[in-house]
Amino acid sequence: MDRLRERYSDADHTCSECGFVDTDSGWSAKTTGSSVLYRHVCPSCGAIETRTLSLKS
Ligand SMILES: [Zn+2]
Repeated sequence: MDRLRERYSDADHTCSECGFVDTDSGWSAKTTGSSVLYRHVCPSCGAIETRTLSLKS
C-alpha cells in the first residue's frame, strides 16, 4: 500500500485544474476489492483528482 502511494505521489504532482504543482502532499489511497482508488485535493484551488489502479495481475 505504501509503495503504491509513493509511486503515485512521485508521478503526479500537477493539478489539472489550475496547474499548481504540489510536491509535498501525496495521494490518499483506498482499496476497493479489485482496485485501488487514489484521491488528492489540490491545496491551491481545491480540485479533487482521482486515479484508479486495477489490482488484477
Ligand atoms: Zn488546483
